[in-house]
Amino acid sequence: MRDRYCGKVSIDDVGKTLTLSGWISGRRDLGRLIFIDLRDVTGIFQVVFSPDISPEAHERAGDLKQEYVIQVSGKVQNRPDGTVNASMPTGALEMYVVSFQVLNTCKPLPFQLDEENVSELMRLKYRYLDLRRPLVQKIFLERSTAYKVTRDYLASHGFYEFETPFLTKSTPEGARDFIVPSRLNAGTFYALPQSPQLFKQILMVSGFDRYFQIVRCFRDEDLRADRQPEFTQVDMEMSFVEVDDVIGMCEGLVASIYEAIRGEPLPLPIPRMTYEEAMEVYGSDKPDLRFELPMTDLSDIFRETEFGVFRKTIDDGGAIKSIVLKGKTLSRKDLETAVGITKEMGAGGLIWIRKEKEGLQSTIVKYLKDYEKSEMSERLHLSDGDVAFIMADAKSKVNDVMGRFRLYLGDKFEPMAKDQFKFLWIVDFPLFEYSNEDKRFVARHHPFTSPQGSIKDFNGDYESFKAKAYDLVLNGVEIGGGSIRNHRMDDQLQMFKLLNISQDDAIEKFGFLLEALEMGAPPHGGLAFGFDRILMMLLGLESIRDVIPFPKTQKGTCLLTGAPSKIPQKQLNELRIRLTGEQQ
Ligand code: ASP
Repeated sequence: MRDRYCGKVSIDDVGKTLTLSGWISGRRDLGRLIFIDLRDVTGIFQVVFSPDISPEAHERAGDLKQEYVIQVSGKVQNRPDGTVNASMPTGALEMYVVSFQVLNTCKPLPFQLDEENVSELMRLKYRYLDLRRPLVQKIFLERSTAYKVTRDYLASHGFYEFETPFLTKSTPEGARDFIVPSRLNAGTFYALPQSPQLFKQILMVSGFDRYFQIVRCFRDEDLRADRQPEFTQVDMEMSFVEVDDVIGMCEGLVASIYEAIRGEPLPLPIPRMTYEEAMEVYGSDKPDLRFELPMTDLSDIFRETEFGVFRKTIDDGGAIKSIVLKGKTLSRKDLETAVGITKEMGAGGLIWIRKEKEGLQSTIVKYLKDYEKSEMSERLHLSDGDVAFIMADAKSKVNDVMGRFRLYLGDKFEPMAKDQFKFLWIVDFPLFEYSNEDKRFVARHHPFTSPQGSIKDFNGDYESFKAKAYDLVLNGVEIGGGSIRNHRMDDQLQMFKLLNISQDDAIEKFGFLLEALEMGAPPHGGLAFGFDRILMMLLGLESIRDVIPFPKTQKGTCLLTGAPSKIPQKQLNELRIRLTGEQQ
């Protein structure tokens, strides 16, 4: 139906009679001449209707409207001098139409494709129109490139691509499962996978050595701008590897995707930081390093202090930490707002000290000894005008609140270059973390993660036992994570025991994996990263919905199809499901 794509007509085509097909993207009727911008996925080409070339075509062209689908034939020629549009790749060319046909019409549009502030509700309801806009199309062409780069990179590094089941058993990524009732086995349910974790481990047991999958994962969580109930992971697993092997492989992949999208190489290696340092210095396991603002521990300086607030903190075994804002002029109001913000974040109080020519200014300086002031100034490298914010409380609270306060300060006072991409590995995570909800220790990553050293050496100190686990962080957002796994059944069983999961429970849930681990499972480990999220960030977009062709709203609905929807009683009967009163 066409000789060329609209955007691909070139100078070599001048003088040729070609057929093109596409959408009417713009139309200017100058009476004797009617200009139409014909658009397809590759771009726009200008076609001209003139009564001198075809009176019949010119007359019928008067009826053409926005977004009609047409097929045109005519001779390609150079545009006359002075009418060249240098901002368009085909802007030096045009076609005088000899004949054309309308392949389809288009009703008046609910919004114009070049309209800027269309509500998201309209965009998602008429997603096919939204996706027809060149700028939105560009996102999905980039996404397509990213799939290809991923596959090429992994295939060239010995990875094999697999598909694993969607109708499966619950997997342990810690979120709520989506459930699918089984008709053939009434009363039982499949869970949609939160990740292919166990299947990829089993593939290692099968000897495939390196696995990958660009895979949809399902987590029934409350949604935010960067979360969707179904999302895509690049999921990888490798045999006979240690932490450095997985990290090295993954950063090569991330660098390829980065280069394909941003058009410049990503300097490797990506820096690494231990979990402990991240928490101590940035109060977060996913620090945003686009700005500095580290936390400095001052606790030891105040060991002998007589200032009440600090005294109490030290006696209670807490921490005194500071973040310094350098070279900014803060008004009283800025300082009061800062205090208010940390209160909202849960702080008991926030102290600020300003370094001025005459010395330190703050309501608390009169309680501090000279050596305390001077050691503090020295440690914080205070210069005139700098403001030190100080918090004293239990260490975990200080880290948490100051970590969030740091983000506030960064956002407000440290202008960030827009396209800065600060990748960072966080390594040496703790194996366990305390769950306030479950009132017990749970696996920080997932229960298949291997500790550093032998699990048999566990001495009862849940908080300090470290895992062979790593996360990839970009600009303060976790974009991937993984671990080396327990590849021996006895170690895995011991892990379940430490997690307070009984052997019976473990066997009922993961018996198939435990059995596989007993039949020659090689050492293995892997990682998964969030494909949507990394694309969103590399493309400088605000919402994960922008990189998913058919996303759900914050309430988990699809405005295009109307899903989720009620199903007929007959289907419910087949599934032996009875709805309770209010749902009917
Ligand atoms: N399955 C893990 C996740 O989805 C990743 C991994 O451990 O490989 O977070």
